[in-house]
Amino acid sequence: VKEQGKNNFEFYTPEMNEAISKKMKLEIGLRKAIENHELALVYQPQIDLETGKLFGLEALVRWDHHEWGMIPPDEFIALAEETGLILLIGEWVLYSACAQNKALQKEGYPPIRMAVNISSRQFQQPNFAGMVRKVLEDTGLDPMYLELELTESIIQDSQYAISTMHTFKKMGIHLSIDDFGTGYSSLSYLKILPIDTLKIDRSFTRNIFIDPKDASLVSTIITMAHNLGLKVIAEGVETTEQLHFLKQQKCNGAQGYYISKPIPAKEITEAWGRFSCF
Ligand code: C2E
Ligand code: CA
Ligand code: CA
Ligand code: CA
Repeated sequence: VKEQGKNNFEFYTPEMNEAISKKMKLEIGLRKAIENHELALVYQPQIDLETGKLFGLEALVRWDHHEWGMIPPDEFIALAEETGLILLIGEWVLYSACAQNKALQKEGYPPIRMAVNISSRQFQQPNFAGMVRKVLEDTGLDPMYLELELTESIIQDSQYAISTMHTFKKMGIHLSIDDFGTGYSSLSYLKILPIDTLKIDRSFTRNIFIDPKDASLVSTIITMAHNLGLKVIAEGVETTEQLHFLKQQKCNGAQGYYISKPIPAKEITEAWGRFSCF
């Protein structure tokens, strides 16, 4: 095998071959993941820092392969984007998250917002807004209870992306900027885009008490956002000290392991007991 390999693939090292075949296996597995019902969503609670109540959930995808076990999104989302599979996966995620939120409302829980991660490949699709509209119709979820989490790369993309954002705004869907502050993009887009919320990236939250510069960045982002009429959610809150600092700085919402790890659907109803007086 080695001999043959040498002749046929002289530009590839064994390590490269291994990496390529691992990627191919992963891609084949991912293609079957939806039909095999291997994808699932978990939901991370978001709390209002003023009231302490649950106000939203972020849907996060999980892939539980029948042989390989749990594969974290960091290991397959990039591949899904590269291969275009993110279009199918993303639609499945959106539908499932909206249906889950509607089911909670039908059970009589107070309505909350469901945040869904959108990759730029999805956003570039000609009929992305139409797909979202159809999912809302099919699930019966009021658009005001859906939030799309966009990255700064989407915004920079094109005039088309900007007009799609306005379409969503008109529909009443909330828009947030995920991982805010990590994208090297100019801030001027904040002036023109119909954004509701900035999500402060975990890398800033983590260092609030480690590097005073991160604390300054966090409080400056909050002040700037408020001056622009935007809300702020801090991601990756892991300690009570971080939570208190954010509260003091008038950050609107928080999300992180200190509050709750992402949880399966069946545990959501318990979250109300923990975070609100429902
Ligand atoms: P993200 O959107 O920034 O999601 C937050 C990630 O941080 C999640 O990891 C979450 O479990 C984790 N996290 C939350 N709180 C804490 C904390 O206090 N400490 C630490 N150390 N981590 C925390 P996860 O679920 O592994 O997702 C990773 C990334 O994968 C997401 O980052 C998002 O970019 C992507 N992703 C996940 N689900 C989807 C999806 O349905 N569609 C798309 N396009 N991307 C997704
Ligand atoms: Ca996110
Ligand atoms: Ca994020
Ligand atoms: Ca992230």
